[in-house]
Amino acid sequence: MNLLSDLKRLFPYPNFVHSQEKILSSVYSGRSVLAIMPTGSGKSLCYQFPAKAGKNLVLVISPLIALMQDQEKKALDLGIRAAAIHSGISGGERSEKYRKLKEKQYQLLFVTPERFRKKEFRESLAANTVDLLVVDEAHCISLWGHDFRPDYSKISEFRKEIGNPNVLALTATATPSTQEDIVKQLGLTGNCEIIYGGMERTELAISVDDVFSNEDKNDKILHLLNTKNGSQIVYFLLIESLAKFSNFLRGKKVDHQVYHGDLGKDQRASSLNRFIKNENVLMLATPAFGLGIDKPNIRQIFNYELPGSIESYFQEIGRAGRDGQPAEAHLFLRDDDLSISMEFIKWAYPEKEFITTFYKMLEENSISLLQEGFSFYREKLSFRNKRDYRVESAYNILERWGCVMPLTEVLSDENNYAAQKDFRVTLRKPTDDDFKNENQKVLFQHQNKKLLDIYSWAKNETKCRLGGIYEYFGADYIECGKCDWCHENQP
Ligand SMILES: [Zn+2]
Repeated sequence: MNLLSDLKRLFPYPNFVHSQEKILSSVYSGRSVLAIMPTGSGKSLCYQFPAKAGKNLVLVISPLIALMQDQEKKALDLGIRAAAIHSGISGGERSEKYRKLKEKQYQLLFVTPERFRKKEFRESLAANTVDLLVVDEAHCISLWGHDFRPDYSKISEFRKEIGNPNVLALTATATPSTQEDIVKQLGLTGNCEIIYGGMERTELAISVDDVFSNEDKNDKILHLLNTKNGSQIVYFLLIESLAKFSNFLRGKKVDHQVYHGDLGKDQRASSLNRFIKNENVLMLATPAFGLGIDKPNIRQIFNYELPGSIESYFQEIGRAGRDGQPAEAHLFLRDDDLSISMEFIKWAYPEKEFITTFYKMLEENSISLLQEGFSFYREKLSFRNKRDYRVESAYNILERWGCVMPLTEVLSDENNYAAQKDFRVTLRKPTDDDFKNENQKVLFQHQNKKLLDIYSWAKNETKCRLGGIYEYFGADYIECGKCDWCHENQP
């Protein structure tokens, strides 16, 4: 087949961009592919094309509902028979989509990996031949990835169930060891081509500012905020420092939105909505905010504390300047911040006793999880520091072991758990083997190494900021000409 003439025939594009053609050639040669592509480099076409050109189904596994809805809409606009099936749609709409799926009416289907837990879904899917299995945000499959999701680790099982189709795994950020793990977890060792899509984000100017105190940070950010139009995000590791900065801004009469895990569901939704709808918004948020949000005019991203890894950092700053216009990323570094970030990592690996006690509490009282979120358990378990997030970490770990229901399922409305008197999230007690197999020590060391990597990157005075990030991801070193280092070191 001639890819370019098919592109012109089927899509409103005159040419392929970036590595699209290379990826599609590999897909059509019958190989599985892992493609590392930066955000905004046209990765959607890599699955839209085979969906529109082929006879059978292209199945996309995606981590987030917001992301899927957006992808579904874009595909429909391109005349592809596409659907996203998730917990955010009504029961009626879902049944209708299951029916159409069973009748093989779709070319392109988006689901989260958790969808495979539903029997009705698997039955409807079984009527289809899946030509290509696309794993979007594939770093979620790897324990070494920065957004690990338990159900992602079952994709190789799902793949067997749908007849072992070829895989196209897509990610924007994966270090060489994460890439290796993705290939292994998907069962593609020895049969997978890795395509490096380049990482051009040259419109983004990165700078790292050494500061002496939080007051110093506040003043510098306030000054920078006033230099730009468009939207801006300040990222915080700790909800506590977010709240303090929010107070500081209120004192200065600076309008802003906040988004973090301790807000109720409705508050978060309205804050997010204001951010999406308005042209010039300032958002203070914890790292989870922004995933899947495609807002073109984000002009500045600030990191109030040191992120846990270069992967997380690159993902956060990658949200700026999607319209191709200049954008800036400012990371503030105070010497004490390293210890905050280290503490943060420690919370991700709670001790055995903590996990066991938390499980027992869940067993005795599940309903509070729905009504008050994690704060109920946090107050009971975290005496020393009420801001820590060991409770969330413990839930993630228990979910990965199959001891509790997936949180996404608990929080989705479709099952209307709140109405049930005997609501339970616990499935089985964690065993000694669970703890033994977890290998927390190795994971913990790995996270610490990532933190030290970003710390030394931030402290480095011998190379371009962006070039240092490229090297970290195994790409060639470049000098961006825009970062603070390039400004000081280039003629
Ligand atoms: Zn540079």
